[in-house]
Amino acid sequence: MIRKLLHRVFNRNTPASTSTRSSSAVPHVIRREQHGITRDHINSCALKVTSTLQEAGYSAFVVGGAARDLLLGLVPKDFDVATNATPEEVRAIFRRSRIIGRRFRLVHVMCGAETVEVSTFRGSTSVGEEDGITADTHADEHGRLLRDNIFGSQEEDARRRDFTVNALFFDPVHEEIWDYLSGYEDIKARRLRVIGDPVRRYREDPVRMLRVVRLAAKLDMQIDPDSAAPIGDLAPLLRNVPPSRLFDEMLKLLLSGHALACVIDLRSRGLHHGLLPMLDVILEQPLGERFITLALKNTDERVRQEKPVSPGFLFAALLWHEVIAAWNIRQTAGEKLIPALHQAMDDVLAVQNGNLAIPRRYDAVMKEIWAMQPRFTGRSGRRPFRLLEHPRFRAAYDFMLLRCESGEVDEELGNWWKAFQHASTREREDMLLKDETQKKRRRSRSRRKSTATDKDSTSNAVTDEQE
Ligand code: ATP
Ligand code: MG
Repeated sequence: MIRKLLHRVFNRNTPASTSTRSSSAVPHVIRREQHGITRDHINSCALKVTSTLQEAGYSAFVVGGAARDLLLGLVPKDFDVATNATPEEVRAIFRRSRIIGRRFRLVHVMCGAETVEVSTFRGSTSVGEEDGITADTHADEHGRLLRDNIFGSQEEDARRRDFTVNALFFDPVHEEIWDYLSGYEDIKARRLRVIGDPVRRYREDPVRMLRVVRLAAKLDMQIDPDSAAPIGDLAPLLRNVPPSRLFDEMLKLLLSGHALACVIDLRSRGLHHGLLPMLDVILEQPLGERFITLALKNTDERVRQEKPVSPGFLFAALLWHEVIAAWNIRQTAGEKLIPALHQAMDDVLAVQNGNLAIPRRYDAVMKEIWAMQPRFTGRSGRRPFRLLEHPRFRAAYDFMLLRCESGEVDEELGNWWKAFQHASTREREDMLLKDETQKKRRRSRSRRKSTATDKDSTSNAVTDEQE
Protein backbone atom coordinates (compact mmCIF):
# COMPACT_ATOMS: atom_id res chain seq x y z
CA MET A 1 0.00 0.00 0.00
CA ILE A 2 2.79 2.39 1.00
CA ARG A 3 4.64 1.46 -2.15
CA LYS A 4 1.54 2.26 -4.20
CA LEU A 5 1.14 5.59 -2.50
CA LEU A 6 4.76 6.52 -2.99
CA HIS A 7 4.50 5.56 -6.63
CA ARG A 8 1.40 7.63 -7.05
CA VAL A 9 2.82 10.71 -5.39
CA PHE A 10 6.34 10.73 -6.71
CA ASN A 11 6.45 8.49 -9.70
CA ARG A 12 3.40 9.21 -11.74
CA ASN A 13 4.48 9.08 -15.35
CA THR A 14 8.16 8.60 -14.65
CA PRO A 15 10.13 5.56 -15.66
CA ALA A 16 10.09 2.46 -13.53
CA SER A 17 13.01 1.74 -11.24
CA THR A 18 14.39 -0.73 -13.76
CA SER A 19 14.67 1.88 -16.48
CA THR A 20 18.14 2.47 -17.69
CA ARG A 21 17.71 6.10 -18.62
CA SER A 22 15.90 9.15 -17.47
CA SER A 23 14.20 11.82 -19.50
CA SER A 24 13.79 15.49 -18.98
CA ALA A 25 11.42 16.15 -21.88
CA VAL A 26 8.00 17.49 -21.09
CA PRO A 27 5.24 16.27 -23.34
CA HIS A 28 2.65 18.49 -24.90
CA VAL A 29 -0.51 17.47 -23.06
CA ILE A 30 -3.71 17.82 -25.08
CA ARG A 31 -6.94 17.85 -23.14
CA ARG A 32 -10.21 16.21 -23.98
CA GLU A 33 -11.92 19.49 -24.95
CA GLN A 34 -9.35 19.83 -27.72
CA HIS A 35 -8.87 16.29 -28.99
CA GLY A 36 -12.39 15.01 -28.36
CA ILE A 37 -11.49 11.42 -27.42
CA THR A 38 -13.16 10.03 -24.32
CA ARG A 39 -12.58 6.85 -22.37
CA ASP A 40 -15.76 5.48 -23.94
CA HIS A 41 -13.88 5.23 -27.21
CA ILE A 42 -11.61 2.49 -25.93
CA ASN A 43 -12.53 -1.08 -25.14
CA SER A 44 -13.29 -2.13 -21.59
CA CYS A 45 -10.22 -4.34 -21.28
CA ALA A 46 -7.80 -1.57 -22.23
CA LEU A 47 -9.61 0.77 -19.85
CA LYS A 48 -9.41 -1.75 -17.04
CA VAL A 49 -5.71 -2.40 -17.65
CA THR A 50 -4.72 1.27 -17.79
CA SER A 51 -6.80 2.29 -14.78
CA THR A 52 -5.62 -0.66 -12.67
CA LEU A 53 -2.00 0.10 -13.49
CA GLN A 54 -2.52 3.76 -12.62
CA GLU A 55 -4.19 2.85 -9.34
CA ALA A 56 -1.14 0.75 -8.56
CA GLY A 57 0.97 3.86 -9.01
CA TYR A 58 2.30 3.29 -12.50
CA SER A 59 1.69 5.32 -15.58
CA ALA A 60 -0.23 3.58 -18.33
CA PHE A 61 -1.44 4.73 -21.72
CA VAL A 62 -3.13 3.43 -24.83
CA VAL A 63 -0.46 3.82 -27.45
CA GLY A 64 0.51 3.47 -31.09
CA GLY A 65 -2.01 2.59 -33.76
CA ALA A 66 -5.02 2.80 -31.43
CA ALA A 67 -4.34 6.38 -30.23
CA ARG A 68 -3.66 7.38 -33.84
CA ASP A 69 -6.80 5.74 -35.23
CA LEU A 70 -9.03 7.29 -32.56
CA LEU A 71 -7.75 10.75 -33.44
CA LEU A 72 -8.40 10.05 -37.11
CA GLY A 73 -11.95 8.99 -36.34
CA LEU A 74 -11.24 5.34 -37.20
CA VAL A 75 -12.08 2.26 -35.18
CA PRO A 76 -8.83 0.76 -33.85
CA LYS A 77 -8.13 -2.91 -34.58
CA ASP A 78 -6.66 -3.47 -31.15
CA PHE A 79 -5.59 -1.51 -28.11
CA ASP A 80 -1.99 -1.72 -26.98
CA VAL A 81 -0.96 -0.36 -23.61
CA ALA A 82 2.43 1.09 -22.67
CA THR A 83 3.51 1.50 -19.07
CA ASN A 84 6.51 2.19 -16.86
CA ALA A 85 5.82 -1.02 -14.94
CA THR A 86 8.15 -3.89 -15.81
CA PRO A 87 6.66 -7.09 -17.25
CA GLU A 88 7.02 -8.78 -13.85
CA GLU A 89 5.24 -5.89 -12.15
CA VAL A 90 2.40 -6.05 -14.68
CA ARG A 91 2.19 -9.80 -14.31
CA ALA A 92 1.94 -9.45 -10.53
CA ILE A 93 -1.06 -7.10 -10.81
CA PHE A 94 -3.24 -9.08 -13.21
CA ARG A 95 -4.22 -12.59 -12.30
CA ARG A 96 -5.11 -13.49 -15.88
CA SER A 97 -1.91 -12.45 -17.57
CA ARG A 98 1.23 -14.00 -18.95
CA ILE A 99 4.60 -12.80 -20.05
CA ILE A 100 5.35 -13.56 -23.67
CA GLY A 101 8.46 -13.25 -25.79
CA ARG A 102 11.98 -13.96 -24.65
CA ARG A 103 13.95 -11.12 -26.15
CA PHE A 104 11.14 -8.62 -26.36
CA ARG A 105 9.10 -9.29 -23.24
CA LEU A 106 5.47 -8.21 -23.25
CA VAL A 107 2.52 -9.09 -21.07
CA HIS A 108 -0.80 -10.31 -22.39
CA VAL A 109 -3.59 -9.38 -20.01
CA MET A 110 -6.88 -11.20 -20.53
CA CYS A 111 -10.32 -9.86 -19.61
CA GLY A 112 -13.11 -12.15 -20.74
CA ALA A 113 -12.47 -12.94 -24.37
CA GLU A 114 -10.31 -9.83 -24.87
CA THR A 115 -6.55 -9.65 -24.65
CA VAL A 116 -4.57 -6.44 -24.27
CA GLU A 117 -0.87 -6.33 -24.96
CA VAL A 118 1.08 -4.40 -22.36
CA SER A 119 4.64 -3.29 -23.08
CA THR A 120 7.09 -1.55 -20.82
CA PHE A 121 8.45 1.79 -22.10
CA ARG A 122 11.48 0.95 -24.12
CA GLY A 123 14.60 3.01 -24.65
CA SER A 124 16.29 3.95 -27.84
CA THR A 125 19.00 1.70 -29.19
CA SER A 126 19.45 3.82 -32.27
CA VAL A 127 22.92 3.70 -33.71
CA GLY A 128 24.35 7.10 -33.08
CA GLU A 129 27.02 8.84 -31.13
CA GLU A 130 24.55 10.62 -28.92
CA ASP A 131 23.43 7.28 -27.61
CA GLY A 132 26.94 6.14 -26.85
CA ILE A 133 26.17 2.84 -28.57
CA THR A 134 28.46 1.47 -31.18
CA ALA A 135 27.15 0.02 -34.39
CA ASP A 136 28.51 -3.44 -33.72
CA THR A 137 26.61 -3.80 -30.46
CA HIS A 138 23.09 -3.45 -31.77
CA ALA A 139 23.10 -3.25 -35.54
CA ASP A 140 24.28 -5.17 -38.57
CA GLU A 141 26.69 -3.74 -41.12
CA HIS A 142 23.87 -1.86 -42.89
CA GLY A 143 22.73 -0.15 -39.70
CA ARG A 144 19.82 -2.54 -39.16
CA LEU A 145 18.86 -2.78 -35.51
CA LEU A 146 19.25 -6.19 -33.98
CA ARG A 147 18.29 -5.26 -30.43
CA ASP A 148 15.54 -3.05 -29.13
CA ASN A 149 14.73 -4.47 -25.76
CA ILE A 150 16.15 -1.97 -23.27
CA PHE A 151 13.66 -0.33 -20.95
CA GLY A 152 13.52 3.44 -21.02
CA SER A 153 11.50 6.54 -20.30
CA GLN A 154 8.20 7.42 -21.87
CA GLU A 155 9.84 9.95 -24.11
CA GLU A 156 12.39 7.42 -25.28
CA ASP A 157 9.56 5.02 -25.93
CA ALA A 158 7.99 7.67 -28.16
CA ARG A 159 11.27 8.29 -30.00
CA ARG A 160 11.97 4.65 -30.82
CA ARG A 161 8.65 4.38 -32.65
CA ASP A 162 8.48 4.80 -36.41
CA PHE A 163 6.26 7.81 -37.21
CA THR A 164 5.21 10.81 -35.14
CA VAL A 165 1.53 9.87 -35.50
CA ASN A 166 2.34 6.44 -34.03
CA ALA A 167 4.02 7.94 -30.98
CA LEU A 168 1.01 9.45 -29.25
CA PHE A 169 -0.13 8.30 -25.82
CA PHE A 170 -3.74 8.42 -24.71
CA ASP A 171 -4.43 8.32 -20.98
CA PRO A 172 -8.03 7.09 -20.74
CA VAL A 173 -8.30 7.85 -17.03
CA HIS A 174 -7.50 11.55 -17.41
CA GLU A 175 -8.60 11.63 -21.05
CA GLU A 176 -5.37 13.30 -22.12
CA ILE A 177 -3.14 12.85 -25.14
CA TRP A 178 0.58 13.08 -24.40
CA ASP A 179 2.66 14.14 -27.37
CA TYR A 180 6.47 14.40 -27.36
CA LEU A 181 7.05 14.72 -31.10
CA SER A 182 4.31 16.91 -32.61
CA GLY A 183 2.39 13.86 -33.71
CA TYR A 184 -0.90 15.56 -32.94
CA GLU A 185 -0.10 18.35 -35.40
CA ASP A 186 0.86 15.77 -38.00
CA ILE A 187 -2.42 13.92 -37.47
CA LYS A 188 -4.33 17.14 -38.08
CA ALA A 189 -2.25 17.85 -41.20
CA ARG A 190 -2.63 14.18 -42.26
CA ARG A 191 1.14 13.92 -42.58
CA LEU A 192 3.25 10.81 -42.03
CA ARG A 193 6.63 11.83 -40.72
CA VAL A 194 9.48 9.55 -39.66
CA ILE A 195 10.77 10.28 -36.18
CA GLY A 196 14.38 11.49 -36.34
CA ASP A 197 16.60 11.19 -39.39
CA PRO A 198 14.67 9.20 -42.03
CA VAL A 199 17.80 7.67 -43.58
CA ARG A 200 19.03 6.41 -40.25
CA ARG A 201 15.62 5.16 -39.21
CA TYR A 202 15.09 3.28 -42.51
CA ARG A 203 18.57 1.77 -42.19
CA GLU A 204 17.76 0.61 -38.65
CA ASP A 205 14.66 -1.11 -39.91
CA PRO A 206 14.01 -1.15 -43.67
CA VAL A 207 10.49 -2.50 -43.07
CA ARG A 208 9.57 1.05 -42.07
CA MET A 209 9.67 1.90 -45.80
CA LEU A 210 6.87 -0.58 -46.39
CA ARG A 211 5.00 0.61 -43.34
CA VAL A 212 5.03 4.21 -44.48
CA VAL A 213 3.55 3.21 -47.83
CA ARG A 214 0.91 1.00 -46.23
CA LEU A 215 -0.11 3.53 -43.62
CA ALA A 216 -0.26 6.38 -46.13
CA ALA A 217 -2.74 4.38 -48.22
CA LYS A 218 -4.68 3.02 -45.27
CA LEU A 219 -4.96 6.31 -43.41
CA ASP A 220 -5.22 8.54 -46.46
CA MET A 221 -2.20 10.55 -45.38
CA GLN A 222 0.64 12.21 -47.25
CA ILE A 223 4.20 11.10 -46.66
CA ASP A 224 6.28 14.06 -45.56
CA PRO A 225 8.73 14.88 -48.41
CA ASP A 226 11.82 14.38 -46.20
CA SER A 227 10.50 10.98 -45.14
CA ALA A 228 9.67 9.97 -48.72
CA ALA A 229 12.88 11.16 -50.41
CA PRO A 230 15.38 8.46 -49.31
CA ILE A 231 13.11 5.50 -50.04
CA GLY A 232 14.16 4.94 -53.66
CA ASP A 233 17.87 4.77 -52.77
CA LEU A 234 17.40 2.62 -49.71
CA ALA A 235 14.99 0.10 -51.25
CA PRO A 236 17.75 -2.53 -51.70
CA LEU A 237 18.11 -2.71 -47.89
CA LEU A 238 14.90 -4.71 -47.80
CA ARG A 239 16.99 -7.65 -49.00
CA ASN A 240 18.62 -7.84 -45.57
CA VAL A 241 15.34 -8.20 -43.72
CA PRO A 242 14.49 -11.73 -42.57
CA PRO A 243 12.01 -13.16 -45.13
CA SER A 244 9.42 -14.12 -42.53
CA ARG A 245 9.24 -10.52 -41.29
CA LEU A 246 8.96 -9.27 -44.86
CA PHE A 247 6.19 -11.74 -45.51
CA ASP A 248 4.24 -10.62 -42.43
CA GLU A 249 4.45 -7.00 -43.52
CA MET A 250 3.49 -7.85 -47.09
CA LEU A 251 0.50 -9.80 -45.85
CA LYS A 252 -0.58 -6.81 -43.74
CA LEU A 253 -0.24 -4.66 -46.81
CA LEU A 254 -2.13 -7.01 -49.11
CA LEU A 255 -4.94 -7.45 -46.61
CA SER A 256 -5.12 -3.78 -45.61
CA GLY A 257 -8.12 -3.05 -47.82
CA HIS A 258 -5.83 -0.73 -49.80
CA ALA A 259 -3.63 -3.28 -51.50
CA LEU A 260 -3.98 -1.88 -54.99
CA ALA A 261 -3.04 1.65 -53.96
CA CYS A 262 -0.13 0.26 -51.91
CA VAL A 263 1.22 -1.88 -54.74
CA ILE A 264 1.01 1.01 -57.19
CA ASP A 265 2.84 3.23 -54.71
CA LEU A 266 5.47 0.58 -53.93
CA ARG A 267 6.14 0.24 -57.60
CA SER A 268 6.42 3.98 -58.18
CA ARG A 269 9.01 4.16 -55.39
CA GLY A 270 10.98 1.19 -56.70
CA LEU A 271 10.15 -0.86 -53.62
CA HIS A 272 8.59 -3.82 -55.38
CA HIS A 273 11.80 -5.27 -56.78
CA GLY A 274 12.89 -8.31 -54.88
CA LEU A 275 10.11 -7.74 -52.42
CA LEU A 276 7.53 -9.93 -53.98
CA PRO A 277 9.33 -11.77 -56.73
CA MET A 278 5.93 -12.22 -58.33
CA LEU A 279 5.44 -8.51 -58.72
CA ASP A 280 8.81 -7.98 -60.37
CA VAL A 281 7.90 -9.71 -63.58
CA ILE A 282 4.17 -9.67 -63.65
CA LEU A 283 3.56 -5.99 -63.30
CA GLU A 284 5.49 -5.48 -66.50
CA GLN A 285 3.10 -7.63 -68.54
CA PRO A 286 -0.09 -6.02 -69.83
CA LEU A 287 -2.32 -9.01 -69.20
CA GLY A 288 -0.62 -9.87 -65.92
CA GLU A 289 -1.04 -6.32 -64.78
CA ARG A 290 -4.74 -6.36 -65.56
CA PHE A 291 -5.21 -9.66 -63.77
CA ILE A 292 -3.32 -8.52 -60.68
CA THR A 293 -5.14 -5.21 -60.61
CA LEU A 294 -8.44 -7.05 -60.65
CA ALA A 295 -7.32 -9.53 -58.00
CA LEU A 296 -6.16 -6.74 -55.69
CA LYS A 297 -9.27 -4.64 -56.29
CA ASN A 298 -11.40 -7.65 -55.56
CA THR A 299 -9.49 -8.35 -52.34
CA ASP A 300 -9.76 -4.71 -51.26
CA GLU A 301 -13.51 -4.78 -51.75
CA ARG A 302 -13.83 -7.96 -49.71
CA VAL A 303 -11.71 -6.57 -46.88
CA ARG A 304 -13.73 -3.36 -46.80
CA GLN A 305 -16.97 -5.32 -46.70
CA GLU A 306 -15.44 -7.37 -43.87
CA LYS A 307 -15.76 -10.55 -45.89
CA PRO A 308 -13.15 -13.24 -45.30
CA VAL A 309 -10.11 -13.11 -47.55
CA SER A 310 -7.91 -16.09 -48.19
CA PRO A 311 -4.23 -15.24 -48.59
CA GLY A 312 -3.85 -18.49 -50.55
CA PHE A 313 -6.37 -17.26 -53.13
CA LEU A 314 -4.61 -13.93 -53.41
CA PHE A 315 -1.18 -15.52 -53.86
CA ALA A 316 -2.63 -17.91 -56.43
CA ALA A 317 -3.92 -14.87 -58.33
CA LEU A 318 -0.67 -12.93 -58.03
CA LEU A 319 1.31 -15.87 -59.38
CA TRP A 320 -1.10 -17.12 -62.03
CA HIS A 321 0.69 -15.49 -64.92
CA GLU A 322 3.98 -16.93 -63.76
CA VAL A 323 2.32 -20.34 -63.85
CA ILE A 324 0.99 -19.71 -67.34
CA ALA A 325 4.42 -18.64 -68.58
CA ALA A 326 6.08 -21.75 -67.11
CA TRP A 327 3.25 -23.90 -68.45
CA ASN A 328 3.72 -22.57 -71.97
CA ILE A 329 7.46 -23.20 -71.86
CA ARG A 330 6.90 -26.79 -70.83
CA GLN A 331 4.28 -27.34 -73.52
CA THR A 332 6.60 -25.91 -76.14
CA ALA A 333 9.21 -28.39 -74.96
CA GLY A 334 6.74 -31.16 -75.76
CA GLU A 335 5.20 -31.94 -72.37
CA LYS A 336 1.56 -32.94 -72.17
CA LEU A 337 -0.88 -30.26 -71.07
CA ILE A 338 -1.90 -31.40 -67.61
CA PRO A 339 1.46 -32.79 -66.46
CA ALA A 340 2.97 -29.57 -67.82
CA LEU A 341 0.59 -27.52 -65.67
CA HIS A 342 1.48 -29.48 -62.55
CA GLN A 343 5.17 -29.14 -63.24
CA ALA A 344 4.74 -25.43 -63.92
CA MET A 345 2.98 -25.00 -60.58
CA ASP A 346 5.85 -26.73 -58.83
CA ASP A 347 8.41 -24.59 -60.70
CA VAL A 348 6.72 -21.38 -59.62
CA LEU A 349 6.26 -22.47 -56.03
CA ALA A 350 9.86 -23.65 -55.81
CA VAL A 351 11.03 -20.13 -56.68
CA GLN A 352 8.66 -18.56 -54.15
CA ASN A 353 9.52 -21.04 -51.41
CA GLY A 354 13.19 -20.70 -52.25
CA ASN A 355 13.02 -17.00 -51.59
CA LEU A 356 10.85 -17.75 -48.62
CA ALA A 357 8.52 -15.21 -50.16
CA ILE A 358 5.47 -17.36 -49.55
CA PRO A 359 5.50 -19.96 -46.79
CA ARG A 360 4.72 -23.52 -47.76
CA ARG A 361 1.53 -23.61 -45.77
CA TYR A 362 -0.24 -21.83 -48.65
CA ASP A 363 0.98 -24.24 -51.35
CA ALA A 364 -1.89 -26.71 -51.12
CA VAL A 365 -4.63 -24.11 -51.59
CA MET A 366 -2.82 -22.41 -54.44
CA LYS A 367 -2.21 -25.69 -56.24
CA GLU A 368 -5.81 -26.75 -55.92
CA ILE A 369 -7.10 -23.49 -57.32
CA TRP A 370 -4.70 -23.62 -60.26
CA ALA A 371 -5.18 -27.31 -60.98
CA MET A 372 -8.94 -26.88 -61.12
CA GLN A 373 -8.83 -24.20 -63.81
CA PRO A 374 -8.68 -26.54 -66.84
CA ARG A 375 -11.66 -28.43 -65.44
CA PHE A 376 -13.98 -25.48 -65.99
CA THR A 377 -13.92 -26.08 -69.72
CA GLY A 378 -15.26 -29.60 -69.28
CA ARG A 379 -18.94 -28.92 -69.65
CA SER A 380 -20.19 -32.32 -70.72
CA GLY A 381 -21.03 -35.58 -69.02
CA ARG A 382 -20.60 -35.78 -65.25
CA ARG A 383 -17.60 -33.49 -65.11
CA PRO A 384 -19.33 -30.21 -64.26
CA PHE A 385 -21.27 -31.99 -61.51
CA ARG A 386 -18.10 -33.42 -60.03
CA LEU A 387 -16.44 -30.04 -60.15
CA LEU A 388 -19.35 -28.42 -58.37
CA GLU A 389 -18.94 -30.92 -55.53
CA HIS A 390 -15.28 -30.10 -55.03
CA PRO A 391 -14.65 -28.57 -51.58
CA ARG A 392 -12.57 -25.82 -53.18
CA PHE A 393 -15.07 -25.13 -55.97
CA ARG A 394 -16.04 -21.65 -54.75
CA ALA A 395 -12.45 -20.38 -54.66
CA ALA A 396 -11.61 -21.94 -58.02
CA TYR A 397 -14.79 -20.51 -59.52
CA ASP A 398 -14.07 -17.00 -58.23
CA PHE A 399 -10.60 -17.38 -59.66
CA MET A 400 -12.00 -18.39 -63.04
CA LEU A 401 -14.28 -15.33 -62.99
CA LEU A 402 -11.21 -13.15 -62.52
CA ARG A 403 -9.67 -14.81 -65.55
CA CYS A 404 -12.81 -13.99 -67.54
CA GLU A 405 -12.85 -10.43 -66.33
CA SER A 406 -9.21 -9.94 -67.24
CA GLY A 407 -9.91 -11.16 -70.77
CA GLU A 408 -7.79 -14.28 -70.42
CA VAL A 409 -10.73 -16.58 -71.07
CA ASP A 410 -14.03 -15.99 -72.76
CA GLU A 411 -16.66 -14.35 -70.62
CA GLU A 412 -19.12 -16.93 -71.89
CA LEU A 413 -17.43 -19.57 -69.74
CA GLY A 414 -18.05 -17.56 -66.58
CA ASN A 415 -21.67 -16.93 -67.55
CA TRP A 416 -22.24 -20.60 -68.21
CA TRP A 417 -20.94 -21.57 -64.78
CA LYS A 418 -22.92 -18.84 -63.11
CA ALA A 419 -26.08 -20.17 -64.74
CA PHE A 420 -25.16 -23.80 -64.15
CA GLN A 421 -24.74 -23.32 -60.41
CA HIS A 422 -28.13 -21.72 -60.03
CA ALA A 423 -30.00 -24.04 -62.37
CA SER A 424 -32.22 -26.94 -61.28
CA THR A 425 -31.04 -30.48 -61.93
CA ARG A 426 -33.24 -30.68 -65.02
CA GLU A 427 -31.97 -27.38 -66.38
CA ARG A 428 -28.43 -28.49 -65.78
CA GLU A 429 -28.92 -31.60 -67.89
CA ASP A 430 -30.35 -29.39 -70.65
CA MET A 431 -27.39 -27.07 -70.46
CA LEU A 432 -25.06 -30.00 -71.01
CA LEU A 433 -27.05 -31.32 -73.93
CA LYS A 434 -27.26 -27.96 -75.59
CA ASP A 435 -23.56 -27.56 -75.49
CA GLU A 436 -22.80 -28.36 -79.12
CA THR A 437 -19.23 -27.12 -78.96
CA GLN A 438 -18.41 -29.82 -76.47
CA LYS A 439 -19.62 -32.46 -78.84
CA LYS A 440 -17.65 -30.91 -81.67
CA ARG A 441 -14.58 -30.78 -79.51
CA ARG A 442 -15.00 -34.40 -78.54
CA ARG A 443 -15.38 -35.40 -82.18
CA SER A 444 -12.29 -33.50 -83.19
CA ARG A 445 -10.40 -34.99 -80.26
CA SER A 446 -11.07 -38.54 -81.36
CA ARG A 447 -10.07 -37.52 -84.87
CA ARG A 448 -6.88 -35.99 -83.61
CA LYS A 449 -6.02 -38.99 -81.47
CA SER A 450 -5.46 -40.96 -84.63
CA THR A 451 -3.20 -38.29 -86.09
CA ALA A 452 -0.26 -36.44 -84.65
CA THR A 453 -0.58 -34.82 -81.20
CA ASP A 454 -1.52 -31.20 -81.40
CA LYS A 455 0.33 -28.85 -79.15
CA ASP A 456 -1.02 -25.37 -79.35
CA SER A 457 1.55 -23.84 -77.11
CA THR A 458 0.77 -20.26 -78.02
CA SER A 459 -2.67 -20.24 -76.50
CA ASN A 460 -3.32 -19.80 -72.82
CA ALA A 461 -6.95 -20.67 -73.24
CA VAL A 462 -7.62 -24.03 -71.67
CA THR A 463 -9.67 -26.38 -73.79
CA ASP A 464 -11.67 -29.43 -72.99
CA GLU A 465 -8.95 -31.77 -74.22
CA GLN A 466 -6.69 -30.52 -71.50
CA GLU A 467 -8.63 -32.35 -68.83
P1 ATP B 1 -2.01 -1.13 -37.72
O1 ATP B 1 -3.21 -0.32 -37.48
O2 ATP B 1 -1.88 -1.52 -39.13
O3 ATP B 1 -1.83 -2.27 -36.76
P2 ATP B 1 0.07 0.03 -36.18
O4 ATP B 1 0.76 1.36 -36.28
O5 ATP B 1 -0.73 -0.24 -34.96
O6 ATP B 1 -0.80 -0.13 -37.49
P3 ATP B 1 1.60 -2.24 -35.40
O7 ATP B 1 2.47 -3.12 -36.23
O8 ATP B 1 0.45 -2.80 -34.69
O9 ATP B 1 1.15 -1.08 -36.37
O10 ATP B 1 2.58 -1.51 -34.38
C1 ATP B 1 2.16 -0.87 -33.19
C2 ATP B 1 3.06 0.31 -32.90
O11 ATP B 1 4.42 -0.11 -32.73
C3 ATP B 1 3.12 1.36 -34.01
O12 ATP B 1 2.07 2.28 -33.93
C4 ATP B 1 4.47 1.99 -33.77
O13 ATP B 1 4.38 2.94 -32.73
C5 ATP B 1 5.31 0.84 -33.30
N1 ATP B 1 6.02 0.18 -34.40
C6 ATP B 1 5.59 -0.83 -35.18
N2 ATP B 1 6.49 -1.19 -36.08
C7 ATP B 1 7.55 -0.39 -35.89
C8 ATP B 1 8.83 -0.27 -36.50
N3 ATP B 1 9.16 -1.05 -37.52
N4 ATP B 1 9.68 0.68 -36.02
C9 ATP B 1 9.33 1.45 -34.98
N5 ATP B 1 8.15 1.40 -34.38
C10 ATP B 1 7.26 0.49 -34.80
MG1 MG C 1 -1.64 -2.20 -34.44
